[in-house]
Amino acid sequence: MSSCLFCDIIEGRAKGNIVHQDGSLVAFKDINPKAPVHLLIVPRKHIASLLDLQQDDRELIGGVLTVASKLARDNGVAEEGFRVVVNSGPNAGQSVFHIHFHLLGGRRLGWPPG
Ligand code: 5GP
Ligand code: ZN
Repeated sequence: MSSCLFCDIIEGRAKGNIVHQDGSLVAFKDINPKAPVHLLIVPRKHIASLLDLQQDDRELIGGVLTVASKLARDNGVAEEGFRVVVNSGPNAGQSVFHIHFHLLGGRRLGWPPG
């Protein structure tokens, strides 16, 4: 996966402002934040999108939400509220094809999303 931006960040070939890493997941600050807190939680494993998940990925993906709740607490948005979002495909505006979970907080988030 030599041309994947997020693989490059995870593997240290590209700069990323990493705020969490463990054996299966890495989280870093979004380069173009849409909220005061905007982190991307990314599996180390290259999975292009939500549509590419396999049965074997269930534990990995379940772990994302545990990390999201920890990061929400660490970043001071747990009580006031936050959102975890996956964009999949063109209508949702997916622009990076390595699955990632946006953690957004620190301001009022509109619903439904635009
Ligand atoms: P998507 O649009 O695929 O749901 O989200 C991709 C996200 O990656 C966007 O919010 C965008 O700002 C972020 N992004 C794109 N390039 C980089 C980069 O080089 N570094 C970081 N940290 N985030 C990036
Ligand atoms: Zn990748």
